[in-house]
Amino acid sequence: MAHFYVYVSDDICEGQPLRLDPATSHHLLRVLRVGENDRITLFDGRGKRADCILRWSANGRWAEVVAGPVEHVPSPKLRPCLLQGLPKGAAMDELLRRATELGAWEIHPVLCRYGDGGLRPTKSPSRELRWRAIATAACRQSRNPFLPTICQPLPLEKISLRSPSLHIVASLEADARPWREVVGHFSEFAGDVYLAVGPEGDFAPEEQHWLRQNDFLPVSLGTRVLTAETAAMTLLAAAQLAWGQDP
Ligand code: SAH
Repeated sequence: MAHFYVYVSDDICEGQPLRLDPATSHHLLRVLRVGENDRITLFDGRGKRADCILRWSANGRWAEVVAGPVEHVPSPKLRPCLLQGLPKGAAMDELLRRATELGAWEIHPVLCRYGDGGLRPTKSPSRELRWRAIATAACRQSRNPFLPTICQPLPLEKISLRSPSLHIVASLEADARPWREVVGHFSEFAGDVYLAVGPEGDFAPEEQHWLRQNDFLPVSLGTRVLTAETAAMTLLAAAQLAWGQDP
């Protein structure tokens, strides 16, 4: 029996029918070819999920789901918040997909001097919708019940950090500490951890200065120079393995 995950933005309530939007209905019916006996789990991206019964409309164009008992998944004890220097081109799309798989709680695309578009904030509703769709698909694929918050791209100094929180920056500077030293120091960490990764051109001196002023601990991920995407995934995975619930 196949098992499908379906995202709904509505509140999930036991026994209450929900009509799926045309795109989701089409995907289930024509792309995934969901059958009557397949298991379907609804999730709302905020930790609620429920197995459900799926019914098709008479014309087969849309589907309706009726949720069974609702499960509330507890919030993870580690909440990784990625501050990612916005890379050029489509790299951010792939980065968002993978960061969602790795359980990023919040993602801040950061406008950096040596990254995409420099420091000028641009509002792009289509880009924001695309990012949300990518993160939703990644949640579905990885069975992650928590959709990350994707923040508006901003320069570092406009980002407000919650406290208390641990701040780490992936750094190529000479004073960067080895990862295992940081884990040794904060062996029982839980809560918000901000993970900053530079764009392909690295952080500019004034950005490095902001990071230091905001107590970001410079951490080395090895002697090789990684692409921004690899560095972000390495840091997220390392944080999850050190402090997350995953074994
Ligand atoms: N253009 C730079 C590389 C920037 S890599 C150069 O050629 O030197 C982009 C980002 O990835 C960096 O800002 C840093 O945050 C991270 N990064 C890459 N390799 C790393 C490593 N070995 N250790 C820690 N961070 C790394």
